[in-house]
Amino acid sequence: MSKDITILSEVQYMVSNELANQYRILPKFFSKNTLELYVDDSNNNEDTREELELFLGKNVAFYPMDTSEIEKALSIYYRKERALSANKSLNVDKGDFLENLLTEAKSLKCSDIHFEVYDDSSRIRFRIDGQLIERYKIEHANYLELVNKVKIKAKLNITEKRLPQDGRITNESFDIRVSILPTLFGEKIVMRLLGQDASNIDLNTLGLQKEELESYLEAVKKPNGIILISGPTGSGKTTTLYATLRLLNESRRNIVTVEDPIEYTLKGINQVQLKEDIGLTFSSALKSFLRQDPDVIMLGEIRDSETALMAIRASLTGHLVLSTIHTNSAIGTISRLIDMGVPSYLIAETLNLSVAQRLVRKLCNYCKKETKCNLKDFPLNFIFPYEISSYYKPTGCNQCFHTGYKGRTAIYEILNINNTITEEIKNNTITKLASNDKDYKSLSKKAFEILAMGETSLEEIYSILINI
Ligand SMILES: [Zn+2]
Repeated sequence: MSKDITILSEVQYMVSNELANQYRILPKFFSKNTLELYVDDSNNNEDTREELELFLGKNVAFYPMDTSEIEKALSIYYRKERALSANKSLNVDKGDFLENLLTEAKSLKCSDIHFEVYDDSSRIRFRIDGQLIERYKIEHANYLELVNKVKIKAKLNITEKRLPQDGRITNESFDIRVSILPTLFGEKIVMRLLGQDASNIDLNTLGLQKEELESYLEAVKKPNGIILISGPTGSGKTTTLYATLRLLNESRRNIVTVEDPIEYTLKGINQVQLKEDIGLTFSSALKSFLRQDPDVIMLGEIRDSETALMAIRASLTGHLVLSTIHTNSAIGTISRLIDMGVPSYLIAETLNLSVAQRLVRKLCNYCKKETKCNLKDFPLNFIFPYEISSYYKPTGCNQCFHTGYKGRTAIYEILNINNTITEEIKNNTITKLASNDKDYKSLSKKAFEILAMGETSLEEIYSILINI
């Protein structure tokens, strides 16, 4: 029988976290001084039962369950308190806890670490694949000490507890942006792990399909022109840009970038951190870049018409310019540039490729479950590109922190600027005609394809299906 274990709060308090995890048990029901317990089948013996009766001071009855079901329920109801005081390998007093934590975060490909304090508890959560996952519970006294350690490492004022502070931890292993915010019960810290080595990012593994990859490569191999990637924050635009820079990073090319913040490092390219407070903006950096004999210029973002026009000028004078822009679709990028005051004939002349992208979580291959396709579950106005009889949904297992998902993939919409599209841009008819282009697939169509292939769930792509 495979059924999720549900624990009622009236009995949950009867078994402590420690006991639950040590004996791999969960309380089921209590009456007449007998506590019924779910137990891991491998622990179902008379000795264990007697020991537990001693500990609990009650009669105990066992209900054996599969290890996987116990695991799952334990992780929901009795999360292992890897509390610092209880866990010998991670001791906050030894001063290496922070270092261990950072190393762990890095190895789990965590993007942000949250340190949070509440009325009677504190915790550390990791953002992995875009989702926050609770990783440690910490005792109050240890939390305060940890905050001080972070402040010292980030060269912040440890006596200042009432105002927000921003700092940075930079050494050979880490480049971390630290933000401290005073909250009701103490200071909350968020660490953003930056400067990840880009030398392993591979354009082939990001989610581009074969034909898309071909058009993409063709566009980035041109010696001049503009490549624009659009999408909301956290949609993986920077990763795509760095995968591209990595490809272009050869000794015969001079590559310069200006970014805020610098999320990746790549040996052989020249990276500049934006500093708007002292006047180092995207457009001023771009001006200086042009005197640096560049071949490839990467601008973190095109936010205003000044930068947009300069990027166009740079591409007209023989440079390849890569950048991002805030729009919803590859076609939207063109209207956005027109809104910024770029004449459409210049867009037609310089734009090599317009890309839109989103990130979705991939279903865990160990536990995803097939489910019948029900049209009612899809957004009302969604037009099915083709029929499907089923798709997959998440469940959760030990392999995926019981989230049902593992890893992420990008969904790309690629607008290849061919002759027809160039004409459309010039005539301002792009929105009407691009959808007839045989090579063009919208984000929603692409999202549906990934669902149909069983790579992701309907929940993950729902917002993409209604948006376009
Ligand atoms: Zn799983």
